[in-house]
Amino acid sequence: MELLKTANEVAARTTAARGRGETVGLVPTMGALHAGHASLIATAAEQCALVVVSVFVNPLQFGPGEDFERYPRNLEADLQRAAEAGADLVFAPGIEQLYPPPVNITVHVGELADVLEGAVRPGHFDGVVTVLTRLFNLVGPARAYFGEKDYQQLVIVRDLVRELRLPIVIVNCPTLREEDNLARSSRNAYLDPTARAAASVLYRALAAGAAATEQGTRDAAAVRRAMYAVTEMEPAATVDYLEVTDPERLIVLERIDGPVRLLGALRIGGVRLIDNLAAAPNPTAD
Ligand code: AMP
Repeated sequence: MELLKTANEVAARTTAARGRGETVGLVPTMGALHAGHASLIATAAEQCALVVVSVFVNPLQFGPGEDFERYPRNLEADLQRAAEAGADLVFAPGIEQLYPPPVNITVHVGELADVLEGAVRPGHFDGVVTVLTRLFNLVGPARAYFGEKDYQQLVIVRDLVRELRLPIVIVNCPTLREEDNLARSSRNAYLDPTARAAASVLYRALAAGAAATEQGTRDAAAVRRAMYAVTEMEPAATVDYLEVTDPERLIVLERIDGPVRLLGALRIGGVRLIDNLAAAPNPTAD
């Protein structure tokens, strides 16, 4: 496996691969790679001849007061994990490689950027799609891999490629979890033991919402109450949101008439966690 640090090198390598008729796959990450990232890379390795993993902590997607400075960075460990998972190339650029000054062009996300995560993190999704547009253009992947863990991001990335007509297939990969079902995340490293023990409450709340949905609850407010009933049992948790949405456009629902996506975010011990689950009314529940 090769490590490249410049935009020119990665463009040359991927252009050559496309010239040989190879499928280029891209797994964009911010590093601190864990088993969740590894599963994306492994899926890409099954489907692509050249798997590029980008490792870049993108300043544009962090708001003021967020954790850009302290976000975990460990390139040595990332290289090993990426290689083990089947990556061919890690692209770990310095900031000037992706954002050569002047940075005059950014990409703006419409109303999907103002709800759920976007409501709590203004500007976050503009930062995400701006770096992805630059990465997509540089790497020229036929396929790009994203985790369902960041479900709103996935929906927005699908809009990005559809609306800009980028010739990229977006592949979504299921969320990898710890034994207590906490979604794996680079930010879990911030959790102290007490917070870590409490952190599975987010999954348990979403699972309670999914169970209520599957049992035939049609009133979304009742499903929300089922989720809040779980988080209220955990005094260390402060909920940012727990919502019942439609899975395509993430519109917050009042009534459940089909498949839904339950999304949640909460803070425990100063650490912000997000997660989501799919659910659908059981056809025999009526
Ligand atoms: P990040 O490094 O947090 O920007 O994540 C890079 C990619 O890995 C994104 O597409 C995430 O959705 C995905 N990812 C992060 N955590 C997980 C997980 N637990 N399971 C599956 N995919 C994940």
